[in-house]
Amino acid sequence: MKRNITMQVKAKKLKRKSMNYSAEKITATLKSKGLRVTPQRFAVYANLLSRSDHPTVEQILEDLNKNFPVSSQATIYSSLQTLREVELVQEVLLEEGVSRYDANMEDHHHFRCSCCGAIEDIPSNHFEALNLNGLRPGLKATSYEITVHGLCDRCNLQNSGL
Ligand SMILES: [Zn+2]
Ligand SMILES: [Zn+2]
Repeated sequence: MKRNITMQVKAKKLKRKSMNYSAEKITATLKSKGLRVTPQRFAVYANLLSRSDHPTVEQILEDLNKNFPVSSQATIYSSLQTLREVELVQEVLLEEGVSRYDANMEDHHHFRCSCCGAIEDIPSNHFEALNLNGLRPGLKATSYEITVHGLCDRCNLQNSGL
């Protein structure tokens, strides 16, 4: 029974991953932000759109080098900075000193597995809105973000000995 549930979750994830961002659409998005479409920018943005695991620069590099063995960490970093400036990509800081990147620019929260470090998006409408009225006078809230810590489905299964 438990296995079935996990498989369904997996199927859902795969579906989401295979959501196709065509090359034309990616090119058009970059151009609409006034960016010159360089192979590096294209590759970095396409890579981030294809995954939801909030990779680090190193992880993007590793992935890109499989098909594109000319990328260096510095060029990927500079593409990421450009994509951040035009708000196509955001930096996610959930661990001290580790920058991860996310092409999901909608308001959302994160779930972080404290065992393997996996990060997953939680849609912002998933929780009831937080009451921010309790802030001390003088502070004005503009947004907030929730990080839920726990075990991902894989680590949870391993922990329960299945
Ligand atoms: Zn995990
Ligand atoms: Zn995210």
